[in-house]
Amino acid sequence: MLVRNVLLSVDPYMRGRMNDTKSYVAPFEVGEVMSGGAIGEVIESGVDSIAVGDFVLHDKGWRSHAVLTADEAGKLDPDAAPLSAYLGVLGMTGLTAYAGLVRVAEFQPGDTVFVSAAAGAVGSVVGQLAKLKGARRVVGSAGSAAKVEWLTGELGFDAAFNYKDGPVTEQLAAAAPDGVDVYFDNVGGDHLEAAIDSLNLHGRIAVCGMISQYNATEPDPAPRNLFQVIAKRFTLRGMLVADHADLRGRFVEEVAPLVSSGQLRYSETFEDGLLNMPQAFLDMLAGSNTGKMLVRA
Ligand code: NDP
Repeated sequence: MLVRNVLLSVDPYMRGRMNDTKSYVAPFEVGEVMSGGAIGEVIESGVDSIAVGDFVLHDKGWRSHAVLTADEAGKLDPDAAPLSAYLGVLGMTGLTAYAGLVRVAEFQPGDTVFVSAAAGAVGSVVGQLAKLKGARRVVGSAGSAAKVEWLTGELGFDAAFNYKDGPVTEQLAAAAPDGVDVYFDNVGGDHLEAAIDSLNLHGRIAVCGMISQYNATEPDPAPRNLFQVIAKRFTLRGMLVADHADLRGRFVEEVAPLVSSGQLRYSETFEDGLLNMPQAFLDMLAGSNTGKMLVRA
């Protein structure tokens, strides 16, 4: 089928693919079109189950049009949710939040949860899901006063702080005076160090991302307090959403009704024009997005 892209996703993991290093996925090739999550409208189809006018999710990314085989495209239901949700709250970032909290961090009702990059696509879902699933307290960190206000206002976080206002360790200790049972790490560095300091006995850290390191030219010295792993017997586990595809059905069944009923809120930041993809990507890394960053092609 031939599709015309209408929505394109910019994601932090793409930064890692711009380094010429061995990782879980091969680096982008210079001179090749960048791949990435996208939604396209079908304008020609040779696939029986896909008609002209259908919308499909695919991974061919940064281009105006794409030619896809049936295997490369997932048909979307535009009546079930706004199309953009399939790239965010009901898509890859939503599943990351769900799998990371439920499976990797082994969240239990009564846990106090701390999540960093909390006003982003993954973080905003982590915090709300934890609240909806019976967290004792949910604390988030983000990079602006407006984001902090969104977290404690509309999203119902118990506490939030701007990590640019002062040392994370001090701000977290004040926001979670009884300690943290689960830390959902999107940032690494000083955030991870602060979380280790605040972690309770047998605490769990799900390492989803370390965005503070993605542009670093030198390794970050933090966390300097890893020795606490012994006394606190905490668990630190890395995660990749691709390993949790088996949870997709359960995730959609549980989270889609929460989204449509308004119990789980989400935000999206849009930039317009395919040619603005690089700028949208840089803006996302710099924190200009609240919720999922998307480009309307
Ligand atoms: P976000 O929507 O959270 O956007 C990125 C945000 O990171 C920015 O808005 C910015 O918000 C914050 N940020 C940027 N630099 C820093 C910094 N130096 N310190 C603290 N915060 C910073 O992106 P996603 O929700 O898509 O991704 C969140 C994290 O999850 C990333 O680390 C990403 O790599 C990871 N991820 C991992 C997956 C996996 O399978 N392991 C899958 C998907 C995402 P602010 O204004 O608050 O600084």
